[in-house]
Amino acid sequence: MQTHRLKCDVVIFGGGVAGLWLLALLRQQGFQTLLLETEALGAGQTRFAQGIIHGGTKYALLGKVTASSEAIAAMPGIWRDCLQGNGVIDLSKVKVLSENQCMWSHNALSSKLAGFFASKLMRSRTEEIKYQQRPVIFQNPAFKGKVYKLDEPVLDTSSIVHALAEPQQSAMMHIKGMPVFNKNSATDFNVEDIDANHWQIEAQRCVLMAGQGNAELAAAIRSAITMDIALPKMQLRPLKMVMLHGGLPEKIYAHCLEANVNPRITITSHEDSQGETVWYMGGQLAEEGIERSDAQQIKIAKQELHSLMPWLDFEKAQWACLDINRAEPEMGKGKRPDTSFFSINGAVITAWPTKLALAPKLAADILEQMKETNLTASGQSESELAALPAFPAPGYAALPWQEESRWSN
Ligand SMILES: Cc1cc2nc3c(=O)[nH]c(=O)nc-3n(C[C@H](O)[C@H](O)[C@H](O)COP(=O)(O)OP(=O)(O)OC[C@H]3O[C@@H](n4cnc5c(N)ncnc54)[C@H](O)[C@@H]3O)c2cc1C
Repeated sequence: MQTHRLKCDVVIFGGGVAGLWLLALLRQQGFQTLLLETEALGAGQTRFAQGIIHGGTKYALLGKVTASSEAIAAMPGIWRDCLQGNGVIDLSKVKVLSENQCMWSHNALSSKLAGFFASKLMRSRTEEIKYQQRPVIFQNPAFKGKVYKLDEPVLDTSSIVHALAEPQQSAMMHIKGMPVFNKNSATDFNVEDIDANHWQIEAQRCVLMAGQGNAELAAAIRSAITMDIALPKMQLRPLKMVMLHGGLPEKIYAHCLEANVNPRITITSHEDSQGETVWYMGGQLAEEGIERSDAQQIKIAKQELHSLMPWLDFEKAQWACLDINRAEPEMGKGKRPDTSFFSINGAVITAWPTKLALAPKLAADILEQMKETNLTASGQSESELAALPAFPAPGYAALPWQEESRWSN
């Protein structure tokens, strides 16, 4: 059995939005970078994301405006520049599902919530939508609440993955299973690709961006290395999302707010394999639903929609639940991160964007760190690379609402 030797500047594990964004940025800067993926591009959390490019309004609503949560305020602008083809990465082919979202209250706003909206902080981020400009659903005479516009776009996650990955096909490898790290090195390992080629890969830096898979990769590195290496720990936050299609009146992108200000429900709209509208629902519904069976969660979702939009009829709809974990750095005491995270341990960087919206910030922070630690481009020559077998590129993961087998009545 022949083992091919490959040297590169950076190896990235994981082809979700974070790994793909970093791959594009590093290659743009001249670093020989290879991305390794075990399943398919976008197969982890990325394909389940609602595609909201958060700008931190939620933190402002929760009264938690800190320096790090303010960093997210720049994200909609950074993404919009990329969408227009003027940003750091060209995302002009990405499908914009909606330029903005709305927040609605189902009754008259509570005084607490009204106070937030009236504050200087919120006035700069949101504005009330006049009756005729509202989504048609909220023009029904039975609707008694108010609707606010949130200037944060919603993007189609599959088109993000395609736009990031297509120019980088030659720098990606679809691998089988886990790498085997060579003794006492976190950056020298053996791996097999899906064409059964065997590789020994040596890199100057290894970046773990495998979402939930980071824990297993960290364990594999720890078992190869005799010296103590304190790789960061991970926390998983389970969600039970709900989707429905069939006879839906229109596409909406909306958060239902209540006095406690955490969205009771967040709805984004997508298209199933027949081009029919799908509502995809998260928020409190998904967080509180994790102990429920699918049937119980769907029953609660129906009750929620009936109570929030009693004038709509969902008789023709088909429903489905999606169980998915958010993978994040361990925060302790049930806390959630409010910005992206990376940690450096020698030549290993472990990273979680914590939000799709924060992938550009995470990649820029890692690039800066690599430059500060004098990473220099010194991979293999073109002629050495040409002598190696072509890397089998990973395929693309399907969007959950386009997988026919998920739907039931
Ligand atoms: C239900 C849900 C809704 C969300 N909605 C939003 C939203 O609207 N807006 C927002 O900003 N964020 C949202 N998020 C968060 C966002 O989806 C994630 O923060 C982001 O997608 C994480 O990207 P990632 O690249 O780090 O990981 P992932 O997308 O999880 O990708 C990890 C990749 O690594 C691969 N992998 C695993 N193990 C290995 C290994 N050993 N070797 C190589 N590859 C490996 C996996 O197959 C996968 O492709 C949502 C998350 C969830 C779960």
